[in-house]
Amino acid sequence: MTGMPDILPEAIVKELAANFFNRGKIFTDLANTYGSPLYILDTDVLLNRADRFRAAFCRHLPDSGFYYAMKSNNLPLVSKVMLTRGFGLDVSSGLELDTALKLGAKDIIFSGPGKTHGELNMALENRERVTLLIDSAGELNRLLPLAAGCTPPLRVGIRINITPDGLWQKFGVMANDLPDMFHRINACTGLSLCGLQFHSSWNLDPKRQVSAIRYLGQILKELSPDILDALKFLDIGGGYWPAQGEWLVSDKPLVHHVHPAQTIDTFAREIGNAVAEWIFPVKHLRICFEPGRWICNDAMHILMQVVDQKTQDLVITDAGTNAVGWERFETDYFPVLNLSRPSLTERPCRILGALCTPHDVWGYAVHGEDVRQGDILLIPNQGAYTWSLRQEFIKPLPQLAVLGTTEEGFQKNPPPNGL
Ligand SMILES: *Cc1c(COP(=O)(O)O)cnc(C)c1O
Repeated sequence: MTGMPDILPEAIVKELAANFFNRGKIFTDLANTYGSPLYILDTDVLLNRADRFRAAFCRHLPDSGFYYAMKSNNLPLVSKVMLTRGFGLDVSSGLELDTALKLGAKDIIFSGPGKTHGELNMALENRERVTLLIDSAGELNRLLPLAAGCTPPLRVGIRINITPDGLWQKFGVMANDLPDMFHRINACTGLSLCGLQFHSSWNLDPKRQVSAIRYLGQILKELSPDILDALKFLDIGGGYWPAQGEWLVSDKPLVHHVHPAQTIDTFAREIGNAVAEWIFPVKHLRICFEPGRWICNDAMHILMQVVDQKTQDLVITDAGTNAVGWERFETDYFPVLNLSRPSLTERPCRILGALCTPHDVWGYAVHGEDVRQGDILLIPNQGAYTWSLRQEFIKPLPQLAVLGTTEEGFQKNPPPNGL
């Protein structure tokens, strides 16, 4: 993360709190029915995000493909909802591929480092539905003998490394390795070369993607005509940050910070312009997207109940941060909303979980008149990189409740992990 964050304006947090307090009864009703703690998935938010993401990019890039990055929230129902909206799935392991296949996905991108023999074989066996993005020359070496004689061939692309520094070095291949890899793929009848991919994460604005697209344009220009002819798509990955920005705690409980983010319309316009300027003059490729966080962040909330009030400004809840799998709230800020005593005024109060470790923090302040034993609290917008990282640590995991449209046949309140 670069630069100092801004102060998060109080009005923005108040507006978010007001939206959830207005719907407070929906959430407390769920607590009455299903108990506490609870994950609450709102499928209407997912539908809305899917449609908005597609609409934003299709205005600028009509020939495009959309793939939900399963790792950002691997609850199968989330992927299932995305499939109903015409998204494909982006998976990065055999485990995720298995889920995607069981959900009936017909268009799956399999990307990621260190694919095992078993995973490569799984891609080959399901080649009518899978496009494999090769992560290294070594991976191609392992794939070639497995793919020999395969008909119809497996569609493959290559992931390009656009950030060859630090730990991001582990992903993809360097541009100067491409021609050789392309020729070896082309020489194998069991493989059909069809695309290029890059991915960058944590994009608060489109600058990094735009410069990667310019770089890709240069690479395309230097490819031989037979290779260029084979290419059908450019997959520009995910990493779109939700427009509210990245919210962080400060050392004062009532002061919060924000790294602002651009809207998805700005991403779409600038990426669309970059593709028009740098890619299309060389070759008209289908542009593919792999959003994760932007889609699921606002679609899941965590509800909990106060078990113990230890002091005026320290309470213990029945949920522990094993429900999100990491010490998220020691750095990230999200409002804790007291649905039992709503107030748009935030007051200092340490909201801590019930795990036997001090690193079990939900927040340092609460929106509420007060906080007492038995109160129902809601932490909104916990859909991205939480459910996927949840862990059986000390306390059991929350149950799942599902809100939203049922007309498309979503089973209400499936057990966690259930399809
Ligand atoms: C993680 C990942 C994504 C999704 O990233 P978000 O930041 O959740 O949008 C997309 N593509 C690839 C290859 C990834 O590894």
